[in-house]
Amino acid sequence: MYLLNKKILVFIAGLILIIVIAYYLSVSFNDKIDIQIPKETTLIQEDHSEKKDSLDLFFSFLEYYELVEGDTFISTLKKTNLNKREIDQLIIAVKDVIEINQLRIGTRIEMISDLIKEERIIKEIIIYPDREEKISILRIDDRFTVRKDIKTLYSELVFHEIEIEKSIYSSLKNINVPDNIIMSFVQLFSFDIDFQRDIRNKNKINILFEQFKDKDGELIKSGSIFFAKIILTKDSYELYKFENDNYIEYFNSDGKSATKALMKTPINGARLSSAYGMRKHPILGYNKKHMGVDFAAPIGTPIMAAGTGHIEYIGTNGGAGKYIRIKHLNGYKTSYSHLSSYASGIQKNVRVKQGQTIGYVGSTGLSTGPHLHYEVIFNGNKINPMKMKLPSGKKLKGINLNNFLTERDRINNEISKIKN
Ligand SMILES: [Zn+2]
Repeated sequence: MYLLNKKILVFIAGLILIIVIAYYLSVSFNDKIDIQIPKETTLIQEDHSEKKDSLDLFFSFLEYYELVEGDTFISTLKKTNLNKREIDQLIIAVKDVIEINQLRIGTRIEMISDLIKEERIIKEIIIYPDREEKISILRIDDRFTVRKDIKTLYSELVFHEIEIEKSIYSSLKNINVPDNIIMSFVQLFSFDIDFQRDIRNKNKINILFEQFKDKDGELIKSGSIFFAKIILTKDSYELYKFENDNYIEYFNSDGKSATKALMKTPINGARLSSAYGMRKHPILGYNKKHMGVDFAAPIGTPIMAAGTGHIEYIGTNGGAGKYIRIKHLNGYKTSYSHLSSYASGIQKNVRVKQGQTIGYVGSTGLSTGPHLHYEVIFNGNKINPMKMKLPSGKKLKGINLNNFLTERDRINNEISKIKN
């Protein structure tokens, strides 16, 4: 009887030791993939080998990984002890529920394994594609079943009325407005306000935006801006969000959109002849990313300034031939290549208005025929002009205007509710 108690005590002590080590291993190995049974664990189990069979030692391990650049869900699975057949089955089970090749960098993947008779068997894999979703893949016998849980989110409107200190960015950051909301706010005004010259300390900002929390009150994500206002020393600008079947845009209280930012097509009657993206270069012959868009048009067709700004560069520029680059507000530039000639009065540093003729279509430089090669550059990076989401400059009329005015009043109402 005494002997038996002692044996049980020794066993319990051993068990506690294993649990402590297993916990330590699962903590220290959780950021890299190591599905091998750690040596220390194996050693300790050998000490208790006779008892193990009778009691069927059973542990669960949790490891988690975060996808880094170059990782995929499949490459993560391949590093585990799942065999090819199991991986295939798992992919088939999960592919209708989630787009496994589109998981973002930083996606958390948890693997829960049971340690049964020295073998580590993955029994559950959990993917968190974003903070709202949880995908659980469970192994039951020899099959994988997938379950998707989506958190119920609760919308909340947030309103701030603040004075600018230093910059719009730091002022909004200081009161914990999320980065993407700050960026959208800045973008809304980026063709009306020069953030470097027009803004003074103590100028004011108002912002109303939506955010989503889970049932525990934890912030999960931010929604969109409903109202944005900047009060400068002399002028003030305010915009309300308005959504209809065709667009979501921001308008001032009279239903006029923010200044039309940049034209997608700075030329009349032209045909888009080559889009933005990878293509075989027509003269150089090899595949190269086309960093602009081409519009085919007869020689002499007028080219317009896509937005208001000033001429930063005018002259011959290598393969671009006769070339003009305009600097707009807040980090935007546009460029125009292969011109036949420049419009009169267009010189370096001259201010141009949106829609003003700056030059004429030609085929100078590396060009196979008359066309305009048009580029939009934002903070030094070329962007696809056809995909720009910028204000259109439109003015609402008729039923759209009526609907907008109703929406504007609703937003103003929400703001006064929050303020009181
Ligand atoms: Zn081109």
